[in-house]
Amino acid sequence: MGLISRLFWPDMRFKNIYEITPQLLSECGINAVISDIDNTLVTYDDPSPTTEARCWLASMKEAGIKIAFISNNTGERVEKFCEGMDCYFRAESGKPSRKYLLEALTHMGVDKANAALLGDQLFTDVLAGKLAGIRTILVDPIKDVMTPLFRFKRALEKPILSAYERHISKNRQKDKDK
Ligand SMILES: [Mg+2]
Repeated sequence: MGLISRLFWPDMRFKNIYEITPQLLSECGINAVISDIDNTLVTYDDPSPTTEARCWLASMKEAGIKIAFISNNTGERVEKFCEGMDCYFRAESGKPSRKYLLEALTHMGVDKANAALLGDQLFTDVLAGKLAGIRTILVDPIKDVMTPLFRFKRALEKPILSAYERHISKNRQKDKDK
């Protein structure tokens, strides 16, 4: 699992963004989050942030945690979603390319050590974060649109995540045994 764990295992994993609090991020020394949009913050059906997502974003801003959005979706989708928000965003970013993650870091003036990538996919989001050399936070997809390509991607993610979960629970057990 050496290479696979290095490239695809997230540093943290949560059910959804609402489990990620500003306090938790601060404790990890994270003061900037580069976030995916679709299925991470909202579903494909939400053109704009939902009320809950807006509250979550506001709580981050209040705590001084910077947010940038990097999506592989179209300019139209991403611009509409980011309307009125004063932050870095990039559509058609070509994740897993790290190019725009690095650009976002420069734009925000944040060191790699203090940034995290947030997303719902291993082969685009997590890999992009790893290639950029920043920490990665994985959330479960809110609602997958089950196209054949997505089914295939999720099927490929499954064994990697199972191994990751086994690794996490083994470590937990080790900590308990200490
Ligand atoms: Mg996504």
